[in-house]
Amino acid sequence: MSNVDFDRQRNELVETGVCRLGVRDDAVLQAMRSVPREEFVSEAMREFAYRNAPLPIGSGQTISQPLIVAYMAEALELTATDRVLEIGAGSGYAAAVVSRIAKEVFTVERHRELADAARSRLERLGYDNVHVLHADGTLGWPEHAPFDAIVVSAGAPRVPPALLQQLVIGGRLVIPVGDQQHCQKLIRVTRRGEDDFQHEQLTDVRFVPLVGEAGWESTEE
Ligand code: SAH
Repeated sequence: MSNVDFDRQRNELVETGVCRLGVRDDAVLQAMRSVPREEFVSEAMREFAYRNAPLPIGSGQTISQPLIVAYMAEALELTATDRVLEIGAGSGYAAAVVSRIAKEVFTVERHRELADAARSRLERLGYDNVHVLHADGTLGWPEHAPFDAIVVSAGAPRVPPALLQQLVIGGRLVIPVGDQQHCQKLIRVTRRGEDDFQHEQLTDVRFVPLVGEAGWESTEE
């Protein structure tokens, strides 16, 4: 498939699968139109890059559905000066989208192969305001905290306390939370003061589990 076809499919998906389904933030729509999702999946998956669905990326993980990436980016209420932390880099796609809206993105991934692949892919594509770390993201990224916004791209059993502590006052955390591993409510937590956190429930979502010290226990090893 040629780049022109991919460009056409991307614009169509943003129009019918994102904008028409309720995401209206111009900066988010613009970012979704600019990031080539086909570059974030394997050769075998490229032809499906513009389905509005998650796709496998290896290590038993998935690249998120475009609508959800856009919805979460909108829920973060980003501005151009924001420094953003993402937990669950996966392919690096969501980080790339957020990097078109915010100033800097720090993204953490617990699978080394995915972290390494995301880092070199983002570098190759020129997303030089995205930084990738291989670590357990349930502990955040203390060296670069605090953040204006934090987005968790995997389903947590509860909100990891370290992430709350790494938000600026006024900062927003968007995270799927649920007591089942594959079924969550998307929550937005806004830090109103040192110890004042406002919780809002946004929508039902299905993410792979957040595995780590303040997440689910690993069943893989
Ligand atoms: N944002 C990604 C979606 C990745 S799916 C994209 O656009 O492609 C969720 C990712 O979270 C998986 O890659 C999984 O390995 C990762 N993950 C799960 N628990 C984690 C943790 N504690 N710290 C960092 N990454 C984690």
